Amino acid sequence: MAYCKGCQATITWVRTEGGRSMPVNFEKVPGGNIEVKDGVAIFVAPDPMVARLISHFATCPEELKANAALLGAKKAEEERRRRAQLSLFNFRQ
Ligand SMILES: [Zn+2]
Repeated sequence: MAYCKGCQATITWVRTEGGRSMPVNFEKVPGGNIEVKDGVAIFVAPDPMVARLISHFATCPEELKANAALLGAKKAEEERRRRAQLSLFNFRQ
């Protein structure tokens, strides 16, 4: 058993087909999209009637916060580029 460093949730680690380790929530949830077969995690189509594992990244509040921050940074960068292009455009006129 392991715990998420970000939110302290109970997680387990699974190995994907690509051989990478991925944290999943300890408890299966309806609509989960990860099935472990022969020790390998496989992504399947989510079925609301079937409880399966789900990536902890999908539910971790800390991860969501980090993603939001990343998204914010990306938006800011896009805006910066847009403005840079605008000023370039104005300069050429
Ligand atoms: Zn977490």
